[in-house]
Amino acid sequence: MSSVRNLVIVLGDQLDPTLSALDGFDTERDVVWMAENETEATHVWCHKKRLVLFFAAMRHHRDALRDRGFEVDYHALSADRRRDSGRGLADILSARIRIHQPKRLVMTESGDHRVQSLLQECADQHDRALQVRPDRHFYCDPAAFDAWAAERQRIVLEDFYRGLRREHDILMNDGEPAGGQWNFDKANRETFGRQGPGALPHVRAFRPDACTRDVIELIETRYPDHPGHTDGFDLPVTRDEARTALADFIEHRLPVFGPYQDALWTGVRFAYHSRLSAALNLHLLDPRECVDAAVAAYEAGDAPIACVEGFVRQILGWREFVRGVYWREMPGYAERNALSADLPVPRAYWDGDTDMTCVADAMANVLDNGYAHHIQRLMVLGLFALVAGVNPRAFNDWHLAMYLDAIDWVLTR
Ligand SMILES: Cc1cc2nc3c(=O)[nH]c(=O)nc-3n(C[C@H](O)[C@H](O)[C@H](O)COP(=O)(O)OP(=O)(O)OC[C@H]3O[C@@H](n4cnc5c(N)ncnc54)[C@H](O)[C@@H]3O)c2cc1C
Repeated sequence: MSSVRNLVIVLGDQLDPTLSALDGFDTERDVVWMAENETEATHVWCHKKRLVLFFAAMRHHRDALRDRGFEVDYHALSADRRRDSGRGLADILSARIRIHQPKRLVMTESGDHRVQSLLQECADQHDRALQVRPDRHFYCDPAAFDAWAAERQRIVLEDFYRGLRREHDILMNDGEPAGGQWNFDKANRETFGRQGPGALPHVRAFRPDACTRDVIELIETRYPDHPGHTDGFDLPVTRDEARTALADFIEHRLPVFGPYQDALWTGVRFAYHSRLSAALNLHLLDPRECVDAAVAAYEAGDAPIACVEGFVRQILGWREFVRGVYWREMPGYAERNALSADLPVPRAYWDGDTDMTCVADAMANVLDNGYAHHIQRLMVLGLFALVAGVNPRAFNDWHLAMYLDAIDWVLTR
């Protein structure tokens, strides 16, 4: 039996080499622990590509940490579904605590209230201290958001966003917003017109390497009945690939991102959207890298202010804002149901089989790519679920299952 100082928990959406949990890591005395686990994969009926994304990115991160000399205790699922069946994160961690006998557990705060609670319970059961460190990935931590919100009668995105622009000196000229106004939303509501969008830039695709191909095979064997498919999996699963995807967006789509942010057209999958949310939410990309790259494109004259401000507002504004609201309002937030809506999620949201054209088109995107851009999410799938009376908790779980970028803090809204 070995005895380690810190057992450092790295969750599947914490794939950042500079993660706070790794601060002060001593390769002689500390061990990283990561786990693919059955219950996180199946407590909602997960899209196959979502499972591939998480496990492939985790395995690449494990290898990158090992290359840096970290000992990584990694629990991989096998193709045999009987093995690990019903074993949750806490069960797997418990077994490893018994083996390693760590003095304490260390982690960066989770993006999921439920996971944070179950890890705390697990630590308590084993009489181990759990040190929870702040998540530096975000511009604004939950305590700062709370302090900001506590001073206000109404919590409004625009106020929060302007505050962060000032605080971090982003798109500011001598205290004034670049381009003379804070928000260019009005300039960003073009349609594709009768003629349609014309030729759209290709989104950079990443060919799966041997590690990712192994994961694809695993998912197809272990979870053959899950929704979606793994064909054409092409997402970034490493930091280098994620940075290439960012550069591709900045060069080819950011200059036109703004005007068509809200536009829909049948068969159009990504349009000028960045398709960076999955890489961002797994922490393969830092939001500062995205914001800085967009601002640099504006300063170099490569992208207009309306496009750059629109993109910055999504990341610095909305993304930080929904996280602040999540931690402020949880755990009750996820259980709210002001309209007492109680219908299950329609079957068409799992198989795409419907003659409602907009829903069918959005669902084709969801099933093929585990993706929909925000107008499809909000105005098509979200609005229909609202008017139909779908239970919000069930709809939340559906998001967690079907969108590759879904993590509890960002999908609960
Ligand atoms: C009902 C509903 C559910 C959603 N669920 C999720 C989710 O599970 N995960 C998720 O990451 N986003 C979610 N969003 C926000 C948004 O739709 C996605 O972030 C975006 O469509 C991802 O595509 P993209 O990377 O091409 O985004 P772009 O349009 O290129 O935007 C750039 C980035 O800004 C951020 N962003 C944009 N809009 C939002 C927003 N409203 N809230 C938070 N961040 C935003 C994302 O990180 C995104 O990558 C949801 C929106 C709605 C209306």
